[in-house]
Amino acid sequence: MMPEKQHHIVIVGGGTAGWMSAALLAKATKGRLGRITLVESAEIGTVGVGEATIPPIQFFNQLLGLDEADFVARTQGSFKLGIEFRNWTRQGHSYIHPFGNYGGNIDAVSFHHYWLRLRALGDGTDIGDYCPAIAAARAGKFAPEIPQGPTGAPVLSFAYHFDASLYAAYLRDFAVKLGVRRVEGRIVGVRQRAEDGYVTTLDLADGTMIEGDLFLDCSGFRSLLLGQTLGVGFRDWSRWLPCDRALAVPCVGTDEITPYTRSTAHAAGWQWRIPLQHRIGNGHVYSSAFMDDAEAEAILMGNLDGKVLADPRPLRFTAGRREKAWVRNVVGIGLAGGFMEPLESTSIHLVQTALFRLLALMPTDVRDPATRDEFNRLSEIEYEQIRDFLILHYHATERDDSDFWNYCRTMAIPDSLRHKMDLFRARGRVARFDGQLFSEASWVAVFLGQGVHPVAYDPMADVLPEAEMRQRLARNLDHVNRSIAAMPGHRAFLNRHCRAAAA
Ligand code: FAD
Repeated sequence: MMPEKQHHIVIVGGGTAGWMSAALLAKATKGRLGRITLVESAEIGTVGVGEATIPPIQFFNQLLGLDEADFVARTQGSFKLGIEFRNWTRQGHSYIHPFGNYGGNIDAVSFHHYWLRLRALGDGTDIGDYCPAIAAARAGKFAPEIPQGPTGAPVLSFAYHFDASLYAAYLRDFAVKLGVRRVEGRIVGVRQRAEDGYVTTLDLADGTMIEGDLFLDCSGFRSLLLGQTLGVGFRDWSRWLPCDRALAVPCVGTDEITPYTRSTAHAAGWQWRIPLQHRIGNGHVYSSAFMDDAEAEAILMGNLDGKVLADPRPLRFTAGRREKAWVRNVVGIGLAGGFMEPLESTSIHLVQTALFRLLALMPTDVRDPATRDEFNRLSEIEYEQIRDFLILHYHATERDDSDFWNYCRTMAIPDSLRHKMDLFRARGRVARFDGQLFSEASWVAVFLGQGVHPVAYDPMADVLPEAEMRQRLARNLDHVNRSIAAMPGHRAFLNRHCRAAAA
């Protein structure tokens, strides 16, 4: 009989997923649901990338009770107000997907409908001018919030950039202090119970055996337990997300630290630029079907801001997810459960939400199929809505200058995304449900940024008298302009509040 109560949770892997899991479970269960052990192998190492996040990570940090300034300083971190997309819609074009929004609803009608109405009346103000995150990003400034504005004023939100290896080390110190046992060693064998295939024991290369009740597979792309041991299939989404390789390279930083991630589209993929306090992280994500490694490397090395600090590191992946995230007594978290490419920095977020789901459904009996099914059902919905958001970036483009972009522009897309695009084109409405990760403002940013324009706005926006609408939007604009004028530069903010030690 499996025990009524979990008494030993074993985490396989000490990358970002493993240490986030250890830290949160240790903090949330306070040792009352049993022991937690994490096994990691320095010999194998971690994926070593994953340095840009999205705003919900603030909630994760709050649950851990982290001191933000300490966390940012110790991870050489910086603040992120959104992502700038260069050359995605067409060469020379740029837009920002901001965190926060452009303005609150007015009479239950979303802000962007009033902006569309104003535009139809001949006003040429860029929607980004209403958004504090975009205005601050363009000005290279940062503050965690703006002063409270008039009713319906926009809100600013932010996330972090950090050094991936320092982040894992930071969480490791945190988790170990809370009693998580860390075991260094390479797992060479996995034992399963004969009658039902449940994982019982890990065999390490030095002969150590680790028994457990619930196993979190955080072993990265290897997917040691979920994929290799339990044979859980992989749902391949590369027909929609064709990038399958990356080259990552750090370079020397610049004086100013841009408070946003940059994504620059190239001929067969795109390049990330993640500014930290001690360096800039760069990487070229590309499709091997459309570009060879040498060309990808030449493009990356030709588009850096400063001196290169290490050799480019190659990474290979396939966009998609395991058919099921939780099978028997194994839950796949992080890359072991799936990966959809880093375009919108969603992978670390998926670790976080998997952990929240696990806590919400913490099994008293790992055999309960209803608990597992619910976990798997929610994981599937979450992956698919993020997948659609990512595909939108590739598909909604005017680019016709390479085979890659011709493929992406003309490919058949999932029906769920087709519906979202049709709905937005018709009346600027965004099809989403409560609890969905990307907000209405995010979808609006990418739709408009990538050239998907509505034919008309919501007729409900016509209910507000024109003079009042103009006055309210002008007040919002004024509030944003004043707030940004008073904000410090990003580097100045970091130096004042969370300056990292010299690297
Ligand atoms: P890993 O870091 O690979 O860790 C796996 C762990 O398992 C390691 O400790 C390893 O030693 C251990 N292990 C494996 N096999 C064994 C064994 N046999 N015995 C013992 N230990 C073992 N995410 C974002 O949110 N934002 C980004 O900007 C972002 N950029 C990315 C860019 C690229 C190119 C890629 C590929 C990913 C990116 N990600 C990003 C994803 C992010 O890197 C991962 O989600 C995150 O690092 C978690 O990885 P992980 O812990 O699952 O795997």
